[in-house]
Amino acid sequence: MFKKILVANRGEIALRIQRACRELGIKAVMVYSEADREAKYVKLAEEAVCIGPAPSAQSYLSMPAIISAAEVTDAEAIHPGYGFLSENADFAERVEQSGFQFIGPTPESIRIMGDKVSAKQAMIKAGVPCVPGSEGELPDDPTQIKRIAKSVGYPVIIKAAGGGGGRGMRVVHTEAALVNAVQMTKAEAGAAFNNPAVYMEKFLENPRHVEIQILADKHKNAVYLGERDCSMQRRHQKIIEEAPAPGIPRKLIEKVGERCVAACKKIGYRGAGTFEFLYENGEFYFIEMNTRVQVEHPVTEMITGVDIVKTQIMVAAGERLPFTQKDIVIRGHAIECRINAEDPYKFTPSPGRITMWHAPGGPGVRVDSHVYTNYFVPPNYDSMVGKIITHGDTREQAMARMSTALAETLVEGISTNIPLHRELMADAKFMSGGTNIHYLEEWMRHHKR
Ligand code: ADP
Repeated sequence: MFKKILVANRGEIALRIQRACRELGIKAVMVYSEADREAKYVKLAEEAVCIGPAPSAQSYLSMPAIISAAEVTDAEAIHPGYGFLSENADFAERVEQSGFQFIGPTPESIRIMGDKVSAKQAMIKAGVPCVPGSEGELPDDPTQIKRIAKSVGYPVIIKAAGGGGGRGMRVVHTEAALVNAVQMTKAEAGAAFNNPAVYMEKFLENPRHVEIQILADKHKNAVYLGERDCSMQRRHQKIIEEAPAPGIPRKLIEKVGERCVAACKKIGYRGAGTFEFLYENGEFYFIEMNTRVQVEHPVTEMITGVDIVKTQIMVAAGERLPFTQKDIVIRGHAIECRINAEDPYKFTPSPGRITMWHAPGGPGVRVDSHVYTNYFVPPNYDSMVGKIITHGDTREQAMARMSTALAETLVEGISTNIPLHRELMADAKFMSGGTNIHYLEEWMRHHKR
């Protein structure tokens, strides 16, 4: 096992990884930008290294700064968390070339999955069901584009091969709008992702977002840890996640889970990963794979009892998965609410000093957050300040616990989306389960303030 790991991230996930290291008896080196100097996980760390000024480009995204921090502290491995450099194949490669273990899949796996066109092709080969669409990248010729759209059937969605974070997508309803939409998406993709390639998919009208968590080791063992429903989204960004997904037959989940495991074995995948699907009319359609730990991993941890972050570290060190598929038993139901520093209805960011932070507690309540009273939320990064996760024997109990937890949570000095979460936990349709990816935005249109 490693003696020392460098945590190349910030915020709640940096703290989460620090906790996993402590439990494993590993020293965690924390890195921080000048804006995060006061963070408690930095103060609590046995070792911490300042890697640059506040802007991410000069700190959390700076490969030389992170790799030299690992060198000066004699770390053996680097955990990238999520976001920042976590899905950057060049970073993974440079980490390994510099003699450190990257806690994640191989650079090749990241590269294949990071390009959504090659990811889809790999999944089709492995027998994972995909959204019908273009065979690979779209050509330039307008006549050919129109022919492809016709065979896929309108509405279609044009997506950037290198896209992420809900950006680089455009829905097209008619042939008249098609060619222009393709050109615009290409131009945007070139500018935003440095890769103008786009592809086409059938636009599913009312799907749910359901994803499968997997864990794999370096010895060709892989398991799936059930699914998560992440349909409560705004602008393709998840706000509430839960596990299991309400109302989907277990047999179907098992079938898809087994396909995902088979795909992992086929591509030699190692570490944690998530296969994202759209689910509509009883069918699963793969959309992309995330080759890292996800924000919503705690809901899976709550229902399976598996520590995903710890397992990531263990398999990176070469250990075998300490369980097989039949050991994975789903118990109860878990829900996660992402707490963002933003106006609950206008969504404008609300950084600043938290003058009062009171976190909830009680049975089945977990809070993953790095903030505290008097913490300053820097304006430079993602607005998420923490996550509240509740677990219960049933979905109803998990939701009741979430309502209680949200009622107990007190945050002053900044605005958060807690009022929105409180309302959603009392919403009859959400309570009944199985709402689709448009539900939250529709709900907001009907609850205008
Ligand atoms: P990103 O990497 O940017 O998150 P995804 O491919 O995972 O992109 O898609 C993000 C979201 O966009 C999905 O959760 C879904 O809401 C929507 N979406 C993507 N593809 C389709 C599709 N074919 N039909 C309908 N909605 C889609």
